[in-house]
Amino acid sequence: MRGTDTAGRYGSYGGRFVAETLIAALDELEQAFDSCMADEQFRSQLQRELAEYVGRPTPLYPAERLSEELGGAQLCLKREDLNHTGAHKINNTVGQALLAQHMGKHRLIAETGAGQHGVATATVAARAGLECCVYMGEEDMRRQAVNVRRMKLLGAELRTVRSGTRTLKDALNEALRDWVGSSADSLYVIGSAAGPHPYPALVRELQSVIGREAREQCLARYGRLPDALVACVGGGSNAIGLFHPFLDDETVRMYGVEAGGAGLESGRHAASLCAGRPGVLHGTYSYLLQDDEGQVLPTHSISAGLDYPAVGPEHAWLKDSGRVEYTAVDDSAALAACLRLTRTEGILPALESSHALAYAFQLATQLGRDALIVVNLSGRGDKDIEEILRLTDSLESAP
Ligand SMILES: *Cc1c(COP(=O)(O)O)cnc(C)c1O
Repeated sequence: MRGTDTAGRYGSYGGRFVAETLIAALDELEQAFDSCMADEQFRSQLQRELAEYVGRPTPLYPAERLSEELGGAQLCLKREDLNHTGAHKINNTVGQALLAQHMGKHRLIAETGAGQHGVATATVAARAGLECCVYMGEEDMRRQAVNVRRMKLLGAELRTVRSGTRTLKDALNEALRDWVGSSADSLYVIGSAAGPHPYPALVRELQSVIGREAREQCLARYGRLPDALVACVGGGSNAIGLFHPFLDDETVRMYGVEAGGAGLESGRHAASLCAGRPGVLHGTYSYLLQDDEGQVLPTHSISAGLDYPAVGPEHAWLKDSGRVEYTAVDDSAALAACLRLTRTEGILPALESSHALAYAFQLATQLGRDALIVVNLSGRGDKDIEEILRLTDSLESAP
């Protein structure tokens, strides 16, 4: 085990805490990434994929009726839900698939919890003619049966993980183990701005298209920058993608919203920045939910995509430096925000994104009518319909 010295560090966070056998593969990836990003031809190829396949740029939508109803700031939604496959995750997988092709790899490895990243990887693998192998916990496969079928339809091979809690963190370990033995012909596609260096930087670069577009769209439509940005934080990729291009704009405040689950005091949540401590998990040093002995704690959230016990290392640093404020929104507030957006704007958001919305609603009433808030609508809620109906039915039938 070792950490890098300066490369891949965000303050004291980040680095590379992996078995010696993975260092060469990570070095190879880092070099390929650097040279591809400096290559005009690669960049225009990526640009074309994002435009023609993913459907970018996504709109910046002024939610006027909702803003009027809230009586505060103007809310604008960055519509990542309109991307192909319904979320921001494909911005990352499209780029990593292209990188794999440039590196001469013919196979993609991915891990998935809710199945969203697995679907996004299987999708680009089909598009690029690459093999795809997805590791998924047995428990998650049961809960996310539709996504399992979708990945199979796309031609991916699914490997059931039966170790540990049979969920995302166990699938991550298995995917890394696969890569140790297969890096000569395979690329491990990580789904968030987490993991060992260079993944946090690589995923941030690929997701920063969100913030670059939002910045331009804001300037074009309003002639100024927004006052605040709000995004939900699981591993942290949609949030860092929105925030990063604005980090030097001192007037722009930023809020990362974690899954508060049943409430922070209940212990049943996934708020690693709000309620965790620094430690090492999945190859990086960052905040994580752990007990006094350093054992990783089980997590809970209404949204499967936020249900991860750690967070990308750059967010740990942005928290400590105070540049970004991190808060948590609980299950019931997220559900209420989801229903409210659906009924006032005709947009059904993912339960993950609904956490950002719930916080933005509060913020809108605190800031004046002249303020402008951009909320990252990371994904659409079609995948959550069953869960939303189950929860609202149980609310209605409650005494
Ligand atoms: C996966 C997912 C998230 C959480 O992942 P980040 O890396 O934190 O962005 C948020 N929203 C949606 C719709 C997702 O699918």
